[in-house]
Amino acid sequence: MSWYQYPPYVSVAARKTKALKKIAKLTKAGKKLSPVQIEGRTIAKTFWGKAWCDNLESYSDYENRLPRGRSYVRNGSVLDLQISKGEIKAQIMGSDHYHGHIKIAPLSPDAWQKIKTECSGKIESVIELLRGELSQFVMEVITRRDGGLFPKPAEIKLDCSCPDWAELCKHLAAVLYGVGARLDSQPELLFLLRGVDHTELIAQAASTAIADGKGDAALGSSLSEVFGIEIAEETPSATVPTPARKTPALSPAPKIKSSKPSPAKKKKATVKKAKAPKKIPKDSEREDRIHNEIMVDCNGTEEESMSWYYYLQDKITFPFRALSITKVASSFGIGKKVIVKKMASEEDCTHFIQVLVKLDNSTCVVPLDTIAPLKADEETTEAIDDWTYYLKRTGGHPFLSHHDSR
Ligand SMILES: [Zn+2]
Repeated sequence: MSWYQYPPYVSVAARKTKALKKIAKLTKAGKKLSPVQIEGRTIAKTFWGKAWCDNLESYSDYENRLPRGRSYVRNGSVLDLQISKGEIKAQIMGSDHYHGHIKIAPLSPDAWQKIKTECSGKIESVIELLRGELSQFVMEVITRRDGGLFPKPAEIKLDCSCPDWAELCKHLAAVLYGVGARLDSQPELLFLLRGVDHTELIAQAASTAIADGKGDAALGSSLSEVFGIEIAEETPSATVPTPARKTPALSPAPKIKSSKPSPAKKKKATVKKAKAPKKIPKDSEREDRIHNEIMVDCNGTEEESMSWYYYLQDKITFPFRALSITKVASSFGIGKKVIVKKMASEEDCTHFIQVLVKLDNSTCVVPLDTIAPLKADEETTEAIDDWTYYLKRTGGHPFLSHHDSR
């Protein structure tokens, strides 16, 4: 082209193709890439992703380059994004192939301590934290400019291999938006970036309750509050699963029918009195589904359990990623990422619904209510929520309560 022409317009499609070609080439060369792929126009959809982007957009330091960054990230220009402690490394396809390096300062111990203290007892579970299901108060603490979790420009050190002299070039702007998109599926990375452990927000809640010196009953109820799950006699999770390598645990679920339903109930009542745990309010939509769709014309507990079994089998799309939300065995901790492979056998589900999960290289059977979906479709999440709701409404005895109610 001659000198007086404008630079050729590169269409969005051409830009995308270019990026895809580069990804293919790098992958072929043995590079393990983690590209940012945006579906549709919305870059971040969850609380964490949106809050990250909102934070960036709130600083005038960045406003010039952010619009180009948005269009770059939407076009798939961020070929690779790696987030580690205090550091973001990326490869970006612009007019050339560039490397970006962003350093994020760790959160100061004082600020972290303050957040933990303020949020103490206010975040019920890791899953609620990661899903961003937080109270207005907690959200304000976390997102505040000073002493919140999101970095300020002074805490962000930018470096790109492109010739742009601007502090924030469009490539790094795209990378920063890419981080927002990534937080949608992996919100824990924000905590990693800031060098803090997100589970401490939950642990703090538990230890504070214990420190209040309320004894065993209070401990019991605070733990159930923290993890959103009934514990001790009430819960299948405390007693059932025996994780086994390769083969599902075959130990039969404990029979709770004859075993002291009344002392268990009594104990629960005192626990409840000790610290008024949250009541599960009646959800009429769910009740309707449960009684008019899931458990229609059930005769006896076996039919009830199988009705649930087939309802869940039908609605849940396996496999899906989930988080363990209660300590079910020594190999399993709270907040472990697992893959939920399928329903456990019918025999394993006569008392509680159980599923087969994979953690690293081992597979085991755990109660469905001990995991919470991280990335699953809506129908899957709703079906699991139906089950945990029903479990809580029946005091942890899903297939006994109707016949046992006094
Ligand atoms: Zn650049």
